[in-house]
Amino acid sequence: MDRQQEFVLRTIEERDIRFVRLWFTDVLGTLKSVAIAPAELEGAFAEGIGFDGSAIEGFTRVYEADMLAKPDPSTFQVLPWRGEKPGTARMFCDITLPDGSPALADARYVLRRTLSRAADMGFSFYTHPEIEFFLLKQGTPDAAPVPVDQGGYFDHVPKGTAHDFRRAAITMLEQVGISVEFSHHEGAPGQNEIDLRYADALSTADNIMTFRTVIKEVALEQGIYATFMPKVFADHPGSGMHTHMSLFEGDSNAFFEPGAPYSLSKTGRQFIAGLLHHGREFTLITNQWVNSYKRLWGGGEAPAHLTWGHNNRSAMVRVPMYKPHKAQSSRVEVRTVDAACNPYLAFSVMLAAGLKGIEEGYDLPAETEDDVWQLTDRERRAMGIKPLPASLSEAIEAMESSELAAETLGEHVFDFVLRNKQQEWHDYRNQVTPFELEHLLPRL
Ligand code: GLU
Ligand code: MG
Ligand code: MG
Repeated sequence: MDRQQEFVLRTIEERDIRFVRLWFTDVLGTLKSVAIAPAELEGAFAEGIGFDGSAIEGFTRVYEADMLAKPDPSTFQVLPWRGEKPGTARMFCDITLPDGSPALADARYVLRRTLSRAADMGFSFYTHPEIEFFLLKQGTPDAAPVPVDQGGYFDHVPKGTAHDFRRAAITMLEQVGISVEFSHHEGAPGQNEIDLRYADALSTADNIMTFRTVIKEVALEQGIYATFMPKVFADHPGSGMHTHMSLFEGDSNAFFEPGAPYSLSKTGRQFIAGLLHHGREFTLITNQWVNSYKRLWGGGEAPAHLTWGHNNRSAMVRVPMYKPHKAQSSRVEVRTVDAACNPYLAFSVMLAAGLKGIEEGYDLPAETEDDVWQLTDRERRAMGIKPLPASLSEAIEAMESSELAAETLGEHVFDFVLRNKQQEWHDYRNQVTPFELEHLLPRL
């Protein structure tokens, strides 16, 4: 047993932890959890805990159903919302087959594999997400969604639910070791944003999974409902998860070059070029639901085109303002991603696209400072500006022929996502919607 494992066992004893939850994530980004008794833990560290992979979305074919969940001791956390004594703790797991080899459907493994490709090129990958979500009075589909307040961007809503909510949520996030950098009311009624501090991408992805759980737990405690659905209200902005990214070479930020425009190094420019070049191919992963495309194409500062800019909120990639005293904070922000993605897979495809840009030495196209939304299609075509997929169906088509996505996700995840999303599109297209009934039935 190593020192981290020993530390976990000791803490469990000292803090009277009675249940240890083993967490992992299915291919679509849903958190899975199995609770074990502390006495099982030594065995779990040594061999993993067996479970039926065929019961988990995207995991396996029936003939290879046996899988093992191996807890990663560096992710051990006591869960504050379960009460102090006897306590509950959790660890994220890596998933393996019975012979110890990594399960190809494990999104955490997909990210580990992509991070090690970056490491082979001399880079470590850091991310920081701005996570937007709605607070609603309730979350069942039988009544129209009602936001908890009528606040707007940066509003301080007196005696507002959102205020108390953010305070409770941030306190709980800090108790589980997640540092919050900013939080505020976002542009739409009931919409909030919480930004997490920079961390290595694997920790950030784990943190996003924990974050989504904490936000939902705190909302339940307060008798409201929190949702990461990308577009809840047609007439208000949707919820994104803008993701800031940077590559480090040792201790220095590889995107930083003093004196260059926006202090952006050649590596940084090529990384952005990779994101734009492959952006259409990986949108199915960063924006995986039929509803995601209503956000991207519904205005409200969401990007719909493959452009980059400095101070341009209609761009897919933004280079945030550089602060001269913060050389290490050079970064690029991808604004397409939404918070209902699988963060392990989303980080993997974006990193792979950026690395491809560096490997192949892609040229960065000119930046767009215009509001891309205001241009006509012809103007956009003349400027070489390409649209993002306009629907889940277009996103499927764009990924189907992507070598980069197949390579990065691995064949198993790649095939599963395509099949699953084709089914979602099929089910969606089979609907006769209120729109059609309202507009067509009286006329036709
Ligand atoms: N809610 C917007 C989106 O869907 C972003 C607003 C902002 O700039 O933070 O991406
Ligand atoms: Mg925001
Ligand atoms: Mg942003």
